[in-house]
This record gives sequence, C-alpha cells and structure tokens, in this order.
Amino acid sequence: MNVRVRYAPSPTGLQHIGGIRTALFNYLFARSLGGKFILRIEDTDRERFDSTALQDIYDSFAWLGIRWDEGPDQDGPHSPYFQSERQASYVAAAHELLEKGHAYECFCTSDRLESLRAEQSEGKSAALGYDRRCRDLTDEDRAQLRRENPHPVVRFKTPLEGDAVFEDMLLGRVKRKNKDISPDPVLLKSDRFPTYHLANVVDDHSMEISHVLRAQEWLPSTALHILLYRAFDWEMPVFCHLPMVMGKDGQKLSKRHGATSLIEFRRRGYLPEAVINYVALLGWAYDDSREFFTLEELEKFFDANKLNKAPAVFDYTKLDWFNGNYIRECDDTRLLKLMTPFVEDAGIRATAEQLQQALPLIKERMKRLEEAPELLGFLVGAPADYPAEELIPKKMDASHTIRVLEGVVGLLDGLSARSDEENEERFRALAEQLDTKLGNVLMPLRVAVTGSKVSPPLFGSIRLLGEEQARLRVHAALQKLKSMLG
Ligand code: GLU
Repeated sequence: MNVRVRYAPSPTGLQHIGGIRTALFNYLFARSLGGKFILRIEDTDRERFDSTALQDIYDSFAWLGIRWDEGPDQDGPHSPYFQSERQASYVAAAHELLEKGHAYECFCTSDRLESLRAEQSEGKSAALGYDRRCRDLTDEDRAQLRRENPHPVVRFKTPLEGDAVFEDMLLGRVKRKNKDISPDPVLLKSDRFPTYHLANVVDDHSMEISHVLRAQEWLPSTALHILLYRAFDWEMPVFCHLPMVMGKDGQKLSKRHGATSLIEFRRRGYLPEAVINYVALLGWAYDDSREFFTLEELEKFFDANKLNKAPAVFDYTKLDWFNGNYIRECDDTRLLKLMTPFVEDAGIRATAEQLQQALPLIKERMKRLEEAPELLGFLVGAPADYPAEELIPKKMDASHTIRVLEGVVGLLDGLSARSDEENEERFRALAEQLDTKLGNVLMPLRVAVTGSKVSPPLFGSIRLLGEEQARLRVHAALQKLKSMLG
C-alpha cells in the first residue's frame, strides 16, 4: 500500500505537546513504512487565524528536526499545503453533494439560529443543533429565498436512520447512530469558506491520504466524516485514533499540570532529542524495557501495532530524567551553544572560557538548561545573599560551625592542585578532629562558596573560582555566623 499520512494543524494557537505527538507518530509511521508525510495547514477559519501560530508550526518542526515531504510546488523548497489556497476544490465538492442530494442550501438567518440555540439551551426543545428547517424546501421556496439571500450556507443531510461504522486501527469497530451525529452541519459557509469537516475530508481524499492518525478527541467528528465519504462515494482512509494524553491525576493534560506548549518546553531547556524520545513513548512502546531511541531509530522501529489504547500519562519527572541523560551525552561544544542563551538571559556575564571550564561541573547535574544560570551564578559574582542559618548543618550550632569553617580555611591552600581523593581525605581528617561527619564539614563550605546547598561538585567549583576567592567567601560566611552570635 502507498502510505501517505498528514499532520493537519489549525494555526489558531501554539503547538501543544499532544499535537506534537500526533505529528511525530504520523512522521514515524510514514518513515517506518517508506511512505510520505504531509503537512497541511488547516487555516479556513479566517477569524481565528493567527500568524504567530503559523510561525510556531514552522519553528516547532525546525527545532524537532522533522521535515514534511511534499507541498503544492513540485520542485522548489516545499511549503506545506494551505487549505486557504484550495478553496475552489471545497466549493466544487459542496456542489457535488448538492447535486447528489446529500446536501442542501440553508437560508436561515443568524438571528433565527441564535434564537433556536437560546430556546434549546433553556430546555424548551429536547433536540440540539439545527432543526433542519431548510432541508425540505420546495424549488419555488428556494428560488424565492435565494433572491433575498444570494449567499446561503450549504448543509450536509445527515441521514436520519442507520449507523456510521468504521474499523479503527487501534480501537477496533466503532459505531455511532446517525441520529446522534450532528444534525445537518454546515459544510460551506456563506463566505464560501468550508468548515473543518468538509475541507478535511476533501483534502484527505484528494491528497490520497491512506491513514489518518489523530487524537481521540476527534472521534466524534470521524462519525460524520464516515458519512461524508459515503455521500461522496469515496474510499475511506484507515483511521487510527491515538490515546489521550493525561496528567498524573487522570485529567486531560493542561496548564495546571505544567508546560503544555512545545515552546514552553524549549524555553525551559529541554533538548529536542529528549522531547522526541519521551513523546514517542506516549502511547507507544518498542518492548517492555527499551526506553532510549534516537529519531533515526524511531524511524525504523515505529510500529503502529505496538500502540496502546489506554490513555498516556505525561510524567514531567520522567521527561526531566530523559533530558538529564541527553544533556550528559551531549557534545560539549553543542551544549555550550545551547546553554549560552539561558546564561545570558539570566544576566550572567561569564566569558566563553569560564563557561567552558564550568561545563563539566554542571553537565552532570543539570536536568534542564534553564538550571544552568543557578548552577553557575556563584562563579560570576558573590553568592546570593543566603541566610546565615543555611550554613549550619543539622544538629550543629553556630559556634560549632564557626570552628568547622575556621578549620576549613587551612585546607584551602593548595586545594586546586590536589586530587579530589586527596582533598576528601584531608577534609575527612578535619571532620574527625572536630568530632563530626565529613558532610558537616563540606556542607558549610559549599554554602559559603556557592551560596547554596546544591551546587556543582565542590572541589571542582573551588578550583574554578580560585582559592583566593573561596577564602574570601568563607571569611564572609564566618562574619555572618559571628554576627548571629552577637
Ligand atoms: N485541523 C485539525 C486540528 O487542528 C485536524 C484534525 C485532524 O487531524 O483531522 O487538529
């Protein structure tokens, strides 16, 4: 079979991580089967069109490193398909349905539809949606009404009896009673622009889309699309409705759970390979154990038979874990380049050399690039104004901590030249002398030097900072503790 799939975003908002999952699965499905992946911009809703959202689609694809295969211009660099440029084909299709008797012109004014809606929401009528008033007009009525309103909308004649049935690749047989499907929805608006349903079906047909992989929230629309395919007498694509993406609480993923748009993930410093890897596992698994995949591997291994129909849970901690792994694996030059804007945006003016030297220290513990400024801050400029209490380890008091730090000062000389093991030995000996644990010696030193209990490896940090600067900071810490004692 000639596999052709599409991702069909509407440029009305920023790319949501769920949409990215749909795009990725379509892309991988095409790649794994030697098919074509199409990007189709569904921009027929001119009121909701947003050029930022369109740019965001391009940026998202570029960032993920995913390309679509085809567009309207055969030779040049591919622009995607735009529905707004294909209006004539929708108008023609609507006329085809009119001729076949599967659609009709509706002359109802917006005032009438408004009051119908109001009545329905007040519960005065049990039915919902359009009341089919124009469905059975006589030719004379129609001619008369056309004189008053030359731009009627075109509505689909949703069959009153029977069912819409299709085999979903993942969900199996799906059946919906026609009487429960939207009553005679508009296909073509009075401005001659199609609605989503018409444009989507016409394009999937004319672009010879073989498989429609889309989110489960589109399931109700699919029933109507099935009826449209039947009315046109067109062959249907295979449908595959992907599992919902949920937060940990079982609710649909939303802002309440954390970042949802791809751009937020980018701004927080996730690497594209981590996002791709993690998102690929939202409803798909290769086997019971393997978790790491490059995009190239996914292009080979993706198999729609291994999709899972249970809702996928978006676990931010797991994504962080993936990202930390990819950061550690990242080539230093690239990581430096990725990290620099985060550092600069935080107002840290470190030289490229400083950053390069600091990189090995922070690479091990960074989960997101946005953490870099905090981890590096101590290097450039005095540590943030931490409270004196931070310096005091649990079960110790200020005077005991003063003794510790005074002892520590003696070990700073020559620290940079000694190996970590050697330094650790010396600090351990000091701890024993002061009748405490190694951690209780290192912790106040860490806070004194970096301003925080969590920092890059301590000895490496001091090496980078310089012994002299470290000594000044330990003295400042001692001052703080002493003024605590009064
Ligand atoms: N334009 C729809 C969207 O915004 C496309 C849905 C579909 O894939 O059919 O997601």
